[in-house]
Amino acid sequence: MKLGFTAAEEAFRGEIAGWFERALTGDFARLRGPTFGRDDIALMKSWERHLGDCGLGTIAWPRAYGGRAATLIERVIFAEEEARAGLGPRPNHIAVELVGPTIFAFGRDDQKSRFLPPIAAGREFWAQCFSEPGAGSDLANLRTKAQREGGKWVIEGQKIWSSLAHIADWGLVLCRTEAGSVGSRGLSLLLVPMAQPHVTIRPIRQMTGESEFNEIFFDGARTAAHNIIGEPGDGWKAAMATLGFERGVSTLGTQARYRRELELVLTAARDNGKAADPAIRQRLARAEIGLRVMRANSLRMLANMECQREGREAVINKLYYATWHQELGELAMDVLGRMAELAEGMDYAFPPLTRMFLFSRADTIYAGTHQIQRNIIAERVLGLPRDPR
Ligand SMILES: Cc1cc2nc3c(=O)[nH]c(=O)nc-3n(C[C@H](O)[C@H](O)[C@H](O)COP(=O)(O)OP(=O)(O)OC[C@H]3O[C@@H](n4cnc5c(N)ncnc54)[C@H](O)[C@@H]3O)c2cc1C
Repeated sequence: MKLGFTAAEEAFRGEIAGWFERALTGDFARLRGPTFGRDDIALMKSWERHLGDCGLGTIAWPRAYGGRAATLIERVIFAEEEARAGLGPRPNHIAVELVGPTIFAFGRDDQKSRFLPPIAAGREFWAQCFSEPGAGSDLANLRTKAQREGGKWVIEGQKIWSSLAHIADWGLVLCRTEAGSVGSRGLSLLLVPMAQPHVTIRPIRQMTGESEFNEIFFDGARTAAHNIIGEPGDGWKAAMATLGFERGVSTLGTQARYRRELELVLTAARDNGKAADPAIRQRLARAEIGLRVMRANSLRMLANMECQREGREAVINKLYYATWHQELGELAMDVLGRMAELAEGMDYAFPPLTRMFLFSRADTIYAGTHQIQRNIIAERVLGLPRDPR
């Protein structure tokens, strides 16, 4: 196994690093820096449009749909340079990494032509509307329903924890379209316009002080009958694929940002003298080793995916990075000591590392909880009996 980069890949890195350097000036310079969960939506949307205009919004996609057919390694490089330039999570992450790949894999040609180019251009934003108050880990228990009325689907129900739904133009909505069906049967994946009077989006305030996710109420919301992925009642397979995209390649950017966060913790430890504490030094060293192991595992996972091999790294990926990141958050708090608890102003103006710690508590919940990931490892990798239901 070779984990280095070719000359062509290094040239690609130079091109991308140079582009970020030139692009992140003027107003866009504000997107740089150790910020987590920025709320300047207008600026971030305009950044997405700029990426799209320069053909860099969806580099992995085929050229016909606004991409540049980048290889997996080029995607790793892009994510690393994006993080090195100081950028945080993209507002169009869900569209680019979850919805787009789902439409590529399961959508019709007319859906690809309608929905993919505006995502690549950074002009349309999406939300993933799966979870409900009674259906998170047990997603197949969901109750939101849709029924056909003439040329439309009419949707009734409630979703929760929908990240960035307040800035989304469209929602990928998993709902029950076969009355009386139970479990994963009878579910469909609908593409629903969010700007309509029958959709109410309410922000949920998180302990970081931000409101990145939302509750959504569908009270007779409508979408055209053809806005369905696959056949009615056949949505489960596509929805599971969406969750697979969420836990797999889409995490590349997140992991690249962890390097920057670890460097912030190191800088803080050097600045306040905690780096001299033997216990802290051990934990910093362990964090560095853990990050390198994570990167090696990610590259192995990608190599397997490229060769269409079923690699076991993919199954442990989520569990590994979420555990590592939560430990980094705890380490950051121990490095900062009392300073971690001081806000710079009213209304949750915490230091960046404190916000990182607070958000990291969610790492073991989103994209499949720790317990569910362990169940998957037990059943699919170790061949243990299925989780009793
Ligand atoms: C930051 C963040 C962003 C999110 N964004 C989105 C989004 O954009 N769209 C969306 O649809 N959802 C989103 N979610 C929701 C997320 O998918 C759910 O929170 C997650 O699936 C868990 O569901 P739940 O919260 O209902 O918890 P529950 O499923 O009720 O779980 C509660 C606890 O019970 C445990 N548990 C449940 N079942 C089992 C079992 N069989 N064996 C062992 N333990 C079990 C869980 O591990 C957990 O500890 C987001 C969540 C977070 C935190």
